[in-house]
Amino acid sequence: MELKKNDIVPLEITDMTGQGSGIGHIDGMAVFCPLTAPGDTINAHILKVKKNYAFAKTESVVTPSPMRTQPDCVCYTKCGGCVFRHISYSEELKFKQQRVYDALTRIGKLNGFMMNPIIGCDDPDHYRNKSQIPVGQDKEGKIVTGFFGNHSHRIIDCSECRLHPEEFDSITAEIKRWIEKNRITVYNETTGKGLIRHIYIRQAKSTDQIMVCLVINGGDIPKQDELIKKLTGSSDKIKSIILNINRERTNVIMGKKCVTIYGKDHITDTLCGLSFDISPLSFYQINHDQTEKLYAKAKEYARLSGNEFLIDLYCGAGTIGLSMAYNVKKLLGVEIIPQAIENAKANALKNNIQNAEFICADASLAAKELTKNNTRPDVVIIDPPRKGCDGTVIEAICTMSPKRVVYVSCDPETLARDLALFTEKGYITEDVTPVDMFPRTQHVEVVVLMSSS
Ligand code: SAH
Repeated sequence: MELKKNDIVPLEITDMTGQGSGIGHIDGMAVFCPLTAPGDTINAHILKVKKNYAFAKTESVVTPSPMRTQPDCVCYTKCGGCVFRHISYSEELKFKQQRVYDALTRIGKLNGFMMNPIIGCDDPDHYRNKSQIPVGQDKEGKIVTGFFGNHSHRIIDCSECRLHPEEFDSITAEIKRWIEKNRITVYNETTGKGLIRHIYIRQAKSTDQIMVCLVINGGDIPKQDELIKKLTGSSDKIKSIILNINRERTNVIMGKKCVTIYGKDHITDTLCGLSFDISPLSFYQINHDQTEKLYAKAKEYARLSGNEFLIDLYCGAGTIGLSMAYNVKKLLGVEIIPQAIENAKANALKNNIQNAEFICADASLAAKELTKNNTRPDVVIIDPPRKGCDGTVIEAICTMSPKRVVYVSCDPETLARDLALFTEKGYITEDVTPVDMFPRTQHVEVVVLMSSS
C-alpha cells in the first residue's frame, strides 16, 4: 500500500521512541505517531511521507493500550513540554534506557560496555527549579502566560505546570494581575514592541529561596514598588527580584544585563553538602535531587584518591568539580559565561576550597592552550551543552591523555558521536548510567566512564 499525505489508515502501535513517539508499521514502513503507546490500535492520519518512514497523528483511538494512563495536566499535548504524560513513569524510564543503549550501539557503534539501569526520580512532578514563562497577548488582547507550543512560538496560556513548584504558578499569576491592572505592555515577537517578555523564576530547593526575574524590552518597569510589594507580600521565600534587559529582536530569552531591584543578586542552594550562589545568567542543573545522584555517579567514575589533578570542562558555576574538590589535589574549571565563572570562584571561597582555579574561556581554545603548556590531568570531566563537544576539544583531551574521562551528557545522540571519536583515539567506554533529570519530557541525562587503554 502506497501511503500518501492525509490518508487515514488503521495502525497498530508496537514500539515507542525514547523521545516519546509511538511507532507502528505499514508494509514495512515505520510510521511515527506522537502521543500513542505500544498496544494502541488507532486510525492514523498521515501527515508526511518520507522514503522509509512517515509521520502521523492520531485521528481516533480504536483500542487503547494497557500502558496508557490519564494525563494529569490540562495543557498536555498543547504545550511543548511533556511527551510521556499519557503512560506511566516506570514505562517512560524503560524507553529512555533503550534510547541511550540504541544511540551508543547504533550511532557510536560501541560494544562491551556496562549498561547500568537508569536512575529514576522518586517524584516525577514539581522537580524543576527553574521556569522561563513567556508573556504575550492573544488575538482578543488578553494577557497570556504559559509555554510555547511544540515547535512554535505561539504561547499556550497555561496557569499551572506540574513540572515546577506550585509557587511558580502563584508568582506568575501575581505578575499577570500587576500587568493587567497597570496596563503594562507585553512583548510582541512580530513587531518587536512591548515591555514584558518573560517571567523567569528560580528556586534553591534545599534553602527554599526564590528568585524572580522579569525579562524586559526596556530599561525599567513602571509601578516597580507595587510589584515588589505584591510579590514579597505574597511569599516570604522571594529573596531576590531582578530585571534582565533584553532589547534584542531575538528569540534568545535572556539579555546580558541584570539589575537587582529587591534583595540579593543571587540565591543560595545547597548541593552535595556544599553551598552554591546562583545568578540569573549562570547555568544550574534544574533537578536538585537527581543532580546529587548524577554527581555521585560521576564522582564514583572519577575514582579519586586525593592525589589527582582534575579538569572540569564546561563547568558552569563549578558545581561538579567543587563537589569533588576535597577528594583531589588540584581542580581546574573552564566555562565560557563570565558570570558563571564569577559564581564558581565565589562558590570555592564560600566552601573554603583552596585547591580550585577557574578560567573563563571557550572549552576548545582552553583545551588547546592546556596541551601547549603540557598540562597533564589525571581525570577530565566534560559536561557540554546538547550539541556535544567540539572535535578539537576531544583531540586536545586525548593529547593530555588523562587516565579517565567522565562524560556527562544531556543528549544521547551527540554523546554517542563523541564517544566514537574518543574510541578512535584509544579510549574505552567502560560504564554507562542514564539518569532521568527530566521526567515526563523527552530529555535524558547520561554519565559515562571512559578509560585510556
Ligand atoms: N557542569 C555544569 C554545567 C553544565 S551545562 C553543571 O553541572 O552545572 C554546560 C555548560 O557549558 C554551560 O554552563 C555553558 O555555559 C557552557 N558552555 C557552552 N559552550 C561552551 C564552550 N564553547 N566553552 C566552554 N563552556 C561552554
